[in-house]
Amino acid sequence: HQLRTPLTGASWALEGLGKETLTPAQKELLDTASGAVTRLLKVVNDLLDIAKIEEGKFGYQFQEIDVGKFLEEELQNAAPIAKQYQVKLYFEKPAEPLKFTADQSKLGLAISNLLDNAIKYNIANGEVSVTVKKLEGKPYLEIIIKDTGIGIPADRFNVIFDPFHQMDSSHTRLYGGMGLGLRNVKRTLELLGGGIEVNSTVGKGSVFKIWFPAE
Ligand code: ADP
Repeated sequence: HQLRTPLTGASWALEGLGKETLTPAQKELLDTASGAVTRLLKVVNDLLDIAKIEEGKFGYQFQEIDVGKFLEEELQNAAPIAKQYQVKLYFEKPAEPLKFTADQSKLGLAISNLLDNAIKYNIANGEVSVTVKKLEGKPYLEIIIKDTGIGIPADRFNVIFDPFHQMDSSHTRLYGGMGLGLRNVKRTLELLGGGIEVNSTVGKGSVFKIWFPAE
């Protein structure tokens, strides 16, 4: 809280500065400050999550979830970033309500991390699509997040899940983050009894597949 609260306060205060009354130069400074605070907040949140996961304090709360509604909400939350990066989001909602039992906030954290990446590491006018299905003959759900972005070389498919791994140091400057997001996603899914896998072609895009028990 000593890290997160002051940063949230700063972010909130910057949001409150009436943009209409500012000169273009002041607006630019304000955007720089907001961007810096947002990136720092992501790093702090990632570090706090990793600390909690490792200490075993990442308590779980299970509830019944309608996966269609749940994913729609996650996509809505990601819409502002998608707009900023000029990326279109698509969701193939299941034809019939698909209910399952899981920890909504943990799963939400994993999905929002993957959506953020699919948007950030995309190209202008790129796309991100999300699909979900129940695995045949197994009480598991599978969610696929597909992007049309920069892609990942095959020799990095495993290491991107390691802590502090970023493919390119320029990514830190451009997109913020510290290479902890995917590490947290993987650990969270493993602790839920699921997993994650990536497939990608450089210059074409990436497909992240996650699965977890639905009961
Ligand atoms: P970060 O917080 O730096 O985004 P992540 O752990 O989420 O860290 O991702 C690690 C690295 O994997 C990123 O720095 C990026 O190079 C690469 N990466 C993750 N997702 C994608 C994606 N959808 N497309 C291309 N590269 C990706």
